[in-house]
Amino acid sequence: TDLRTEIAALVHDVPDHPRPGVTFKDITPVLADAAAFARVVDHMVQAAPGPVDVVVGMEARGFILGAPVAVALGAGFVPVRKEGKLPRATLSGSYDLEYGSAVLEVHPDTVPDGARVLVVDDVLATGGTAAATVELLEQAGGQVVGLSFLMELDFLHGRSRLEGRDVQALLRY
Ligand code: 5GP
Repeated sequence: TDLRTEIAALVHDVPDHPRPGVTFKDITPVLADAAAFARVVDHMVQAAPGPVDVVVGMEARGFILGAPVAVALGAGFVPVRKEGKLPRATLSGSYDLEYGSAVLEVHPDTVPDGARVLVVDDVLATGGTAAATVELLEQAGGQVVGLSFLMELDFLHGRSRLEGRDVQALLRY
């Protein structure tokens, strides 16, 4: 079957989550389906833009997709985490949320200078998380060669915050 149709059928729309008026796309049924999970990982691996040294995943669903993609690409995995979670010296970057702001952190010594970095996450929404991650990784000395998402919410225009980047998404809404 067509990969997009198969995966889209497993994504559950959750109305009014986490707030009234927001429809949350729940990908846990995709992860729970052995064949679907494997096909999504394989798709991200095939779509990778050339050689990759490091896959970066954002807490928390970016870890789930990024780690198997890293192993399949023969790349390392570097987690980008929310404030206060990483135990050693971090680089941090803040980004604006609808209300307030958030901070993302990385251990910069886990990103070799000039490393070709692929950023992986489940959903590209407003692009705030992804844009902050790109900035953080480039500050750490990496070269972000692409970003790969399971799904992109077109109406939130996240792609416009990633101008000039190689942005891939299996599903677009
Ligand atoms: P952004 O910063 O692009 O607005 O939001 C993206 C981040 O929020 C991602 O890390 C993603 O996991 C999470 N996110 C935002 N909306 C959704 C959604 O509808 N479904 C899921 N699964 N994650 C979402």
